[in-house]
Amino acid sequence: MPSNAPAANPFETAKQQIDIVADLIGISSGVREVLKHPKRELTVNFPVRMDDGSYQVYTGYRVQYNMARGPSKGGIRYHPGVTLDEVRALAAWMTWKCAVVNIPYGGAKGGVIVDPKKLSVGELERLTRRYATEIAPIIGPEMDIPAPDVYTDSQTMAWIMDTYSMLKGYSVPGVVTGKPISIGGSEGRGEATGRGCAYVIREAAKDAGVKIKGGTVAVQGFGNAGSIAAKILYDEQGAKICAASDTKGGIWNADGFNPHAVEAHKHKTGSVVGFPGAKSISNEDILETKVDVLIPAALENVLTAKNANKVQAKIVAEAANGPTLPEADKVFFEKKITVLPDILANAGGVTVSYFEWAQNIQGYFWTLREVNDRLERTMVESYQAVHKVAVERKVHNRTAAYVVGVSRVVDAIRIRGLYP
Ligand code: NAD
Repeated sequence: MPSNAPAANPFETAKQQIDIVADLIGISSGVREVLKHPKRELTVNFPVRMDDGSYQVYTGYRVQYNMARGPSKGGIRYHPGVTLDEVRALAAWMTWKCAVVNIPYGGAKGGVIVDPKKLSVGELERLTRRYATEIAPIIGPEMDIPAPDVYTDSQTMAWIMDTYSMLKGYSVPGVVTGKPISIGGSEGRGEATGRGCAYVIREAAKDAGVKIKGGTVAVQGFGNAGSIAAKILYDEQGAKICAASDTKGGIWNADGFNPHAVEAHKHKTGSVVGFPGAKSISNEDILETKVDVLIPAALENVLTAKNANKVQAKIVAEAANGPTLPEADKVFFEKKITVLPDILANAGGVTVSYFEWAQNIQGYFWTLREVNDRLERTMVESYQAVHKVAVERKVHNRTAAYVVGVSRVVDAIRIRGLYP
């Protein structure tokens, strides 16, 4: 249900979602209140020395939403539009996502109000190191483990890992995930979101009676998540990738194209547009093309009441966070289109983040094969758990995924009991 995110206040939306699920599965008012409150919130205002010698004060947050199932996990976002309520909502959604894939984590999120594009690399490093120092008292491998999110990356994680390690006096790789491999990152982390998405599509296709071998696929947003999902569906499942797009526009070829070649073209020219042998298609039309599988992998709120009726795909797999509005969900349910909700379809990333942390704690690293096999098992089991609830309760997969995730959190809260 992160798809409801466009509402003026995303945290209000997140709380409404909790009520919907709580009504459905019968959660007591006390536990319901626990679910609607972040466990711990930290706001930090901190100065950064700019390249010209001046100081600039920035505001950042770290919200640990729920830790009933284990240490909290969630990315850090650098964006001028960050608000505390947005961070709270994202932290709540991380809680349910981790529970859906049944990894032993709670949910968290962090953010700094900043436009990183306006900062030099040096300024960005100083901002990151100071923010990491400010939140250091509440992060750590046993407590809360950040990861990359919007406008943060493996370099940001390396700076946080180094800063935290300097404060401790020894190297602590398990304090963050999404690190470069050279300092304890995991094999397979970079492609985990797209790969996990492809596994879930494969499983859903079996239940929906859709043939992926020779079946057609459209990808809106040929970036990390979208291009990797496309390549794996093409390489390992024999799908035909017929449409792809990015900010500059889209391409279409009914006979399909090789996504590796499209990626090379994008690498060379900066866009998928102009790929030889393909017709152009708009970012709106790509959502309405006649394909078996549609993968929105770019933006929020692209599937709406306006275009939902025109969607012809049999499966919509949300590699992006929040691409579908609730009105569109209703239409898809009525039209029997299988929706694979974001908290399931893009959970491969956090799953391999968990594997990275597990490897860091063991100090023993797995092969790419081991990582991918474990990812596959997790995604298949998670899909099956969600599908079972959807069938039993006659609800769509999004509600089913929330039922699975929230129920697991509630079980942990109940069995642990109320302290003191
Ligand atoms: P990315 O920046 O690598 O790729 C995004 C792609 O979308 C780019 O090709 C970009 O050109 C395209 N795009 C942007 N605006 C567009 C527009 N208006 N129309 C069409 N295309 C547009 O980002 P990513 O990491 O692949 O993330 C994409 C989505 O997946 C986001 O919603 C993100 O939250 C979600 N997600 C990603 C991960 C991950 O591990 N990468 C994990 C979970 C969720």
